[in-house]
Amino acid sequence: MNKMRVKCIKCKKEWQKDSSLSWGREDITSSLCDSCFRKTITPVIHRKQLYRGHLDCFDKPGNYCDEFQCNYRKWCSRAKEAA
Ligand SMILES: [Zn+2]
Repeated sequence: MNKMRVKCIKCKKEWQKDSSLSWGREDITSSLCDSCFRKTITPVIHRKQLYRGHLDCFDKPGNYCDEFQCNYRKWCSRAKEAA
């Protein structure tokens, strides 16, 4: 499996990911790392949660979630334990 260089457009962190294509040493793809992705997406999800009449609890500190109907449960760190 080939490796592809990926660089976070926000924090400039670099990592590699598997790729079926072959990439040169200077080839690099811009993306968002996991933590920057979460920081970017969290306010958007909060707005959607409020709009749907839920609490804007996504990824807030805590380890309990009873919003079983929430569309974002699968990405939420609060709901990880209670799958
Ligand atoms: Zn980042």
